[in-house]
Amino acid sequence: MPDKHTVSAGKVVTMHYKLTLDDGQVVDDSAGGEPMSYLHGSGEVVPGLETALEGRKAGDDVRVSVSPEQGYGHREPDAVQAVQRSAFPPNAKLDVGITFQAMDQDENPLLGTITKVAGDEVTVDFNHPLAGFNLHFEVRVTGVREATAEERRHGHVHGPGGHHH
Ligand code: ZN
Repeated sequence: MPDKHTVSAGKVVTMHYKLTLDDGQVVDDSAGGEPMSYLHGSGEVVPGLETALEGRKAGDDVRVSVSPEQGYGHREPDAVQAVQRSAFPPNAKLDVGITFQAMDQDENPLLGTITKVAGDEVTVDFNHPLAGFNLHFEVRVTGVREATAEERRHGHVHGPGGHHH
């Protein structure tokens, strides 16, 4: 039975985690730093990881491999777009590999990566950098607590490992 120490919707989960790709490349590793916190059931972490952590407790070690469908999705060719240089601020540095945040039509933040600069045309890839990858997580759950009413309203965690505002 779920109790206050069990990961379920509305709980704040604190964890150390390591994220590795198929080729062994380590994308993220919280070891040696602060653990990260997220609000379970809010979609703050990818669906495959959220599912794997459901019902776990502090102290549990969880290893899970997540396909793109349960991760950051597949790469969409349409998300690669040619943008006029004039669409950027005049002093913006436009080089291949530079990432920046833009807004989509619904005002959601979107991360773009410049993949080509040719004359006045800048090619931007709006796919998530981890779209199309299998994700291998190694997680140690370090804490589970009830979210505050305010955290539930905001849909994210406040305080250490979360948002500060
Ligand atoms: Zn907030």
